[in-house]
Amino acid sequence: MEQRVSFQTKLLHNKWKTDPQTGAVSVPIQHASTFHQFDFDTFGKYDYSRSGNPTREALEETIAALEGGVRGFAFSSGMAAISTAFLLLSKGDHVLVTEDVYGGTYRMITEVLSRFGIEYTFVDMTDLHEVASHIRPNTKVIYVETPSNPLLKVTDIRGIVKLAKANGCLTFLDNTFMTPALQRPLDLGVDVVLHSATKFLAGHSDVVAGLAVVKDEELAKQLYKLQNAFGAVLGVQDAWLVLRGLKTLHVRLKQSSESAFAIARYLASHPKVEEVFYPGLTHHPGHSVQRYQASGFGAVLSFRLADEEAARTFVKHVRIPVFAVSLGAVESILSYPAKMSHAAMPKEERERRGITDGLLRLSVGLEATDDLIADFEQALSHVKETPAVSAR
Ligand SMILES: *Cc1c(COP(=O)(O)O)cnc(C)c1O
Repeated sequence: MEQRVSFQTKLLHNKWKTDPQTGAVSVPIQHASTFHQFDFDTFGKYDYSRSGNPTREALEETIAALEGGVRGFAFSSGMAAISTAFLLLSKGDHVLVTEDVYGGTYRMITEVLSRFGIEYTFVDMTDLHEVASHIRPNTKVIYVETPSNPLLKVTDIRGIVKLAKANGCLTFLDNTFMTPALQRPLDLGVDVVLHSATKFLAGHSDVVAGLAVVKDEELAKQLYKLQNAFGAVLGVQDAWLVLRGLKTLHVRLKQSSESAFAIARYLASHPKVEEVFYPGLTHHPGHSVQRYQASGFGAVLSFRLADEEAARTFVKHVRIPVFAVSLGAVESILSYPAKMSHAAMPKEERERRGITDGLLRLSVGLEATDDLIADFEQALSHVKETPAVSAR
C-alpha cells in the first residue's frame, strides 16, 4: 500500500529517487535528440526529444506530483510555459487578467496575443465583484497571479474559480511566488498552474526554466500537443538543475519565509520606512485570505521609502543583497520595480498602482536573518529623514 508522506519527504523520495537501471541516486541526463527504434512497426516510448525525453519527463512527472496534477510540462522559460498555455485560446476569445500581472505576461497579452485577435481586460482581482462585472460571453480564461508583484496583493483563488466555473472559463494561475510548498492551486479548482522555475523551484540563480501543470486529462492532451507543436521545451541539463534545486525547496522556502517575516516586522517598525507589503503582516489587506488558501506567506516583500533619492541611498549602502531583477534564490535579491520590472509602464499608471519611486522589492535568501537586518539598519541610517515621515 502506498504510504502517504509529507510534501517535504516527497521532494526526495519519489519515483526518481534512484535510476532503475544502475541504482544511480541522481536522474541521468539523457542528451540524445533521437532514439533508435528496435522494431519496424512498433516504436518505443521515445522517438525525438522535442516530443519526449526521459530527463525532462522526470522533471515533468515530479512537478505534476508536487502540484497534485496528472501531467506536467517543462519549457525553456517561464514565459515559454505561459505563452504556450495561452495557445489554448483562439481568435475572438477574451482573457481576464490580473492588473498587476508579471511584465513579460503583460507584454505577451497586449503586444502579441492582441495581434491574433485575442481580447483582454485587466482587472483588480482582489475585488471579485470587479472581476464578475468584466466577464463576457467570449471570456475563456481568467488569469491570476497571487500574491502579486511587487505589492503582494492577494487574490481569493476559490472565489475566482467559482466565477470561472459558473461562466464556463478556465482559470490559469502563476504560482511562481508561492510554489507547491506553500500553495496548491489545483486543489482549489484551478485548471492550469504555471511557473517560472527560474525562481524558487530551481532556486540558485543559475537556470531559466518554466513549468505548467494540469489535473484534467483532456487539457493535458491539448497542452502536450501545444508543447510539441510550439517546441519551446526545456533542455536536459536545465531540467536536471531544476530537479536538483527542487530537492531543497522545502527547507529553502521555510528559512527564507521566516527571515522575510522577521525583516517585514523590522522594516514596519522603522521610522524611515513608509509602508511594508508582506501578506504575513496582520494589517496587510490580503492577510486572512492568504492564511486561508496558502500554508505560508513566502519570501518576497516590498517596502516604500520616501522617494527615489531615499531608494538610491539605500541601494548604494546596502551590502548583502545583490541588486538585480529576478527573485527566489539562495542569495537575497533587491530590486527597484520603477526602473526594473515596471520600467515600461508610464509613470502615472505605475504610481496609480502604488509602484512609486521609493518602492523596493526584496526576495529573501538564506543569509542569517540578523546579518540582513543589521545590513538594512546601516543602509537606512544613510537615508535622509524626510519632514513628512519624521513628523509622524
Ligand atoms: C520571472 C517570472 C515570470 C517569467 O519567467 P521567466 O523564467 O523569466 O521566463 C513569470 N511570472 C512571474 C511571477 C515571474 O516572477
